[in-house]
Amino acid sequence: MTRKRFVAGNWKMNTNRASAVALAEGVAKLVPSGDVGGGAVDVGVAVPFVYIDAVGRAIAGSGVMLGAQDVYFEKDGAFTGEISIAMLVDLGVKFVLVGHSERRHVIGEKPDLLAKKAKAILDAGLILVHCVGEKLDERDANKTLDVVKAQLDELPATLADASKLVIAYEPVWAIGTGRNATDAQAQEVHAFIRGELSRRYGQAFAEAVRIQYGGSMKPENAAGLLAQPDVDGGLIGGAALKAESFLAIVRA
Ligand code: PEP
Repeated sequence: MTRKRFVAGNWKMNTNRASAVALAEGVAKLVPSGDVGGGAVDVGVAVPFVYIDAVGRAIAGSGVMLGAQDVYFEKDGAFTGEISIAMLVDLGVKFVLVGHSERRHVIGEKPDLLAKKAKAILDAGLILVHCVGEKLDERDANKTLDVVKAQLDELPATLADASKLVIAYEPVWAIGTGRNATDAQAQEVHAFIRGELSRRYGQAFAEAVRIQYGGSMKPENAAGLLAQPDVDGGLIGGAALKAESFLAIVRA
């Protein structure tokens, strides 16, 4: 089946108000309708919380989807420093990342928290981009598929709408290192993820879910990775901080 590609930029803790707006305008200019490649690609940007409002205004009317890099699962209340889903919806956010490796391994978020966030995002009808991926020592110990399988356990046990779930496979050793997974390494894990989704949610559901690759994807390696049958897009860090390199990946 043909899945609509989804390429999302993860700006992490980069940009300032002016550069975030300029970057957003640069991306929006080249994604006027959201129908890059004849409707083949969804394009999104996951923006630092404090600039979501400004970026939302900058991309208004374009085909670029507004995203957030994290969220808290509770609806409201005494959670100092946290941001709710309703707050993001208020600003026009359509997709939210959960479980990015920096949140897992730098900030220290644990599976039970990630599961609550994933459920809350899906319950709210937003698109969940659930990030999974192994560390280098786990790959070296042949534990990649076990690690990814356990991270997929953070998803709800039943799911109905495949269009609201995106999995981002991001080997931790490839994120921000300049060292990407080979096309074959990516395809192996993506096919495994689709198989796991099929076992859990049924084949039709699994066939419809987009699985992004993330980890030093750039214009030079994007075409090869994106040509793999189970690679349906990319989650892009460093190369998303320049409109030209991000859009070169979208074109690939
Ligand atoms: C990411 O932040 O999800 C990522 C893949 O980063 P980079 O492209 O810089 O490796």
